[in-house]
Amino acid sequence: MVTTAVARKLLIGGEWVETGEWIEVLSPYDGASVGRVPKAGAGETRRALDAAEKAMREPIPAHERAAILDRVSALLSEHADDAARTISAEAGKPMKAARVEASRAVSTFTMAAVEARKLAGDVVPMDASPAGAGKLAFTLRQPVGIVGAISPFNFPLNLVAHKVAPALAAGCAVVLKPASRTPLSALLLAELETEAGLPAGWLNVVCGPAEEIGDVLVDDERVKLITFTGSAPIGWKLRERAARKRVNLELGNATPVIVAADADLDDAAERLAANAFSFAGQSCISIQRIYIERRSYDDFLERFLPRVEALAVGDPAEEETDVGPLITASDRDRILAWIEEAKAGGADVLTGGTLDGELLLPTVIAGAPPDAKVSCEEVFGPLCTVTPFDTLDEAIVLANSTRFGLQAGIFTGDLKNALRAAQSLEFGGVTVNEAPTFRADQMPYGGVKDSGNTREGPAYAVREMTEERLVILQL
Ligand code: NAP
Repeated sequence: MVTTAVARKLLIGGEWVETGEWIEVLSPYDGASVGRVPKAGAGETRRALDAAEKAMREPIPAHERAAILDRVSALLSEHADDAARTISAEAGKPMKAARVEASRAVSTFTMAAVEARKLAGDVVPMDASPAGAGKLAFTLRQPVGIVGAISPFNFPLNLVAHKVAPALAAGCAVVLKPASRTPLSALLLAELETEAGLPAGWLNVVCGPAEEIGDVLVDDERVKLITFTGSAPIGWKLRERAARKRVNLELGNATPVIVAADADLDDAAERLAANAFSFAGQSCISIQRIYIERRSYDDFLERFLPRVEALAVGDPAEEETDVGPLITASDRDRILAWIEEAKAGGADVLTGGTLDGELLLPTVIAGAPPDAKVSCEEVFGPLCTVTPFDTLDEAIVLANSTRFGLQAGIFTGDLKNALRAAQSLEFGGVTVNEAPTFRADQMPYGGVKDSGNTREGPAYAVREMTEERLVILQL
């Protein structure tokens, strides 16, 4: 029986574990306690690795792994309301966005089950060279080994799903460390996996001090792959330290979008207003920089600003809320300081820029200097800049003027320009006539430059989490 009850336990080797110490999970909206989880450390993490190692000694056949993943998907669907409420309570995510996340996690498991069923290697055309004549060869896709998974606060269910589901599809046991501010969704998922019949040790969840747990995952040779989603400095540092492991990084962005004068401006304004501020901009692909062709700059803003101002700001538990709190007050204060810095550099705040109670209002800034933090750092808040441009080439240079490269977008009625932008924007994904905040879970999703080095989406993650083993037969 799954509940959203406040106290959850860690999962290690199939047992629900307490440690005697607790992490309090606080609502980002009003600071109330929404739950607590046991605080683990290096010892529990090593025990989790022991359990994962033991589990992998008895591999689960692919059809059984697929059946378990399908059952998790069905259970998640059944408990979607619990899941959405848990996400909303611990992350401060408005219910409508939390419901979308819960339903996306259902799909992530369904698609991982498909990948488990079709996991296969390739036949190697041995007679294509004289050296191979008389031989038959093929590859097997073997699980890479124990996966250490580290997940962020902002999609506490679906980004855990994007690590755990492909790992299980690939036949890898997992030690998961969820974000300390949002561990409840991950433990709810662990309850569902257990209920779905996942044998002991295949999923282990430890919550606690990031560095202590991270150090064990980095240092222990049994962990063959670390999959990390979070901020760029922490991710790249982990990769440096774990030189002998695969370290797959899904990191941040300062998402740009180009709006050409020949675009459907109403449609662009609608999609961008919704996607720059949803979950208070705390998505790695939240719209941050909008470049608008100068001759339609005023027309676009006339359509965009009223839509931004119409967004409902308030309690994330309310069904009509669009924009809730930032994860911490210090993040809110950081963004307020960045707004002041932009203003001191000559920027104008077109809307927002102030608080409604404790909540930062959706903020649109014009004329931000290119070196202001709102222009070049990841804001991760309900803020976007608007900047005019004259030519598509100029817009592409502006969009590319960032160390990040996760997703970008263009709105245009000209297919040739859309394709030119798609080829020239240095990002892992480019959307055309859709906000670059769009993600469906089967997509190859990930970045270039500082934004990461891998692609998630079950099909792509399973490939990363398996090794090719070559088998050669002498005929
Ligand atoms: P974060 O502060 O980097 O934390 C991410 C995870 O790393 C958390 O579990 C955190 O644990 C852990 N961590 C922190 N320090 C660590 C260390 N020294 N060793 C090992 N683990 C460590 O990121 P966040 O604030 O939760 O999430 C926001 C960031 O994630 C943004 O930059 C966003 O763009 C990025 N993101 C990227 C994607 C993507 O798919 N590309 C998706 C979502 C979010 P604690 O919570 O215990 O500190």
